[in-house]
Amino acid sequence: MTAAAECFSEPTPALNAAQDVLRRLTRDVANFPVPGVLFKDIVPVLGDADGLGAVVAALAELALAGNVTKVAGIEARGFLLAAPVAVAAGVGVVPIRKAGKLPGQTHRVDYALEYGTATLEIQGDAVSSGDRILVIDDVLATGGTARAARDLLSAAGAAVTGLAVLLELEALGGRAQLGSLPVCPLLVV
Ligand code: AMP
Repeated sequence: MTAAAECFSEPTPALNAAQDVLRRLTRDVANFPVPGVLFKDIVPVLGDADGLGAVVAALAELALAGNVTKVAGIEARGFLLAAPVAVAAGVGVVPIRKAGKLPGQTHRVDYALEYGTATLEIQGDAVSSGDRILVIDDVLATGGTARAARDLLSAAGAAVTGLAVLLELEALGGRAQLGSLPVCPLLVV
């Protein structure tokens, strides 16, 4: 079994279809948003009805296999995936937002970026101690954002079942930031 399939008990037709779509439609953009970064643009995947359906179906298989009570999407591209996955899996969705976007009492986690810091928040009543949550984002790069999301949900009392992403950028080593958390990329690049 390939590394890309490690969170599936076996490579399913949905995973194979999603990998085909990601290989075909993901666009590499050099030097965006800053010089030296090879940006993985998944907008063409989202813009293709069959492509979007394929990646959502594969992510939903992970949510169903994990017996989750909710999925959480990381702002902003994670939102575009987490909401349809939640519908497909028959659960609700928790938005993990950047600082200052959510009303009322919030849980927040500050984390380090390459330069400076950032903050992620969820609303205080967004999750409860009985929740089992799969975190969804588009790309795992250095892992700092995903680690902050996991820490935020854990501090709020939820059990985080894993991180599901379309693409894992293996060379950036983000997986190492996440300890024992299962990291489930549809495709490793
Ligand atoms: P990370 O370095 O893992 O904390 O990545 C932070 C966020 O930036 C992730 O949610 C990704 O959506 C995005 N990101 C980082 N690097 C890339 C890249 N090379 N291509 C596309 N998105 C990226």
